[in-house]
Amino acid sequence: MRKYMMALDQGTTSSRCILFDKEGNICSSAQKEFTQYFPQPGWVEHDPMEIWSSQLGVIMEAMGAIGAHTDEIAAIGITNQRETTIVWDRITGRPVYNAIVWQCRRTANMISRLEEDGLSETIRSKTGLIPDAYFSGSKVAWILENVEGAREKAEKGELLFGTVDTWLIWNLSNKENFVTDMTNASRTMLYDIHKLCWDKEILDYFKIPESMLPQVLPSSGLFAYASEEVLGGHIPIMGVAGDQQAALFGQCCFQAGDVKNTYGTGCFTLMNTGEKAVTSKNGLLTTIAVGMKDHVEYALEGSVFVAGAAIQWLRDELRMIKSAAQTEEYCRAVEDTAGVYVVPAFAGLGAPYWEQYARGTIVGLTRGTSKEHFIRATVESLAYQVYDLVKAMEQDSEICMRTLKVDGGASANSFLLQFQADLLEAEVLRPECIETTALGVAYLAGLACGYWESKEEICRNWKKACSFSGQKQPEERDKLLKGWRRAVRCTWGWAEDYMKAENKEK
Ligand code: ADP
Repeated sequence: MRKYMMALDQGTTSSRCILFDKEGNICSSAQKEFTQYFPQPGWVEHDPMEIWSSQLGVIMEAMGAIGAHTDEIAAIGITNQRETTIVWDRITGRPVYNAIVWQCRRTANMISRLEEDGLSETIRSKTGLIPDAYFSGSKVAWILENVEGAREKAEKGELLFGTVDTWLIWNLSNKENFVTDMTNASRTMLYDIHKLCWDKEILDYFKIPESMLPQVLPSSGLFAYASEEVLGGHIPIMGVAGDQQAALFGQCCFQAGDVKNTYGTGCFTLMNTGEKAVTSKNGLLTTIAVGMKDHVEYALEGSVFVAGAAIQWLRDELRMIKSAAQTEEYCRAVEDTAGVYVVPAFAGLGAPYWEQYARGTIVGLTRGTSKEHFIRATVESLAYQVYDLVKAMEQDSEICMRTLKVDGGASANSFLLQFQADLLEAEVLRPECIETTALGVAYLAGLACGYWESKEEICRNWKKACSFSGQKQPEERDKLLKGWRRAVRCTWGWAEDYMKAENKEK
């Protein structure tokens, strides 16, 4: 049996490679940041060649660091920043434009037009997504419309489109395999998540030729072989998933009702809903959780725009703390927030509110409000926002969440996790290995090649580092939540007049 499972984690700011062993321990890892391009306000790009070279570099580095040889790698799993769009020439392999990153807002007008054209409901029901510039569809259309000669070449079948997983596999296989997995396809806004195929009506609307699109495969199974010329060894690529879905799998959320939340810059909450695709009434997304050989599992997904970013704001703009970790000490120095609520709606509010004109609001200040109260209210705002998402998920799925598994940078804050457990009246679990994204695709690849026998075997690798359970009295909890709801209402519509006036001037 070969020793290691290799996971490639191609994220928004860095490329990483981790080698895991059978117990899910990290044996070696390497990471490299790459350049972010902001050519205009609201635009974000990456250089696809730098994505590729940084990824290749860290593969060599991670192997070199422990002297691992290619024939000791059982298989490769790939997880990636989702929705980011690359279009390249089938023959030369050169991208025709930079990668348009998921955060890029350049196609917002295209989405408004799509809504006016009455396509929102079609998109919603077929792709499970709420139309947005965030997803790949309008980004591909933008490249075809704006890059000279791209449309003609695409129509002659000379161009390929892929999310980052597809781009990496195509390069690793030395231009042999043009494939993606179902979780990544489900974020393009071009893929029918129920019929499991590219959707002709949406492709026609965006004028995207079907010949540009990769073949969609289950997330666990053979995708390609990394070629000998590229890696110096013939290694099968056997697991692929978008980053949030990979984290869901890495947290062993295998049953309907299992939920994970990642507390990073923003928060991403996903609930596995089993083989049923649940349509949300609360503005959550329906997405493919994982495609297995014989069945597909779905998830409900919600995100908080500003989570850890609010902690960064305390540190960098307000200069109230020196490090994010310090917040915990301040939170514990007071008994409560003395009635203060901070709603960090800096960029509007997402699910379940979808109030784009909301702005950050602080309520309940008195002469006695201290820095500690203020910091604690900011940290608590992360937990309130995640509470709102989880409640929306429970309502939509009619499934009651038993435990919340957590990861991401801010999950290091035990005060936050205790408060989260208090609000949810559920168990909050932090695992020993918080590299859940990389671990998730290592598992997908390992299940496909027999490195791990079964999900049960994998579950045995999931080791709890800490658990938190609700300790507040119901009356106290209700009072806190009532205050939060009132605070959220205060943010409503704040930027509306100002934004409308600005649009009129334009
Ligand atoms: P991302 O992957 O989105 O870059 P990470 O998962 O690395 O984010 O998490 C970093 C975020 O977590 C930062 O926004 C930081 O402010 C926040 N953070 C890190 N440690 C703590 C802590 N102990 N308490 C609260 N927030 C923290």
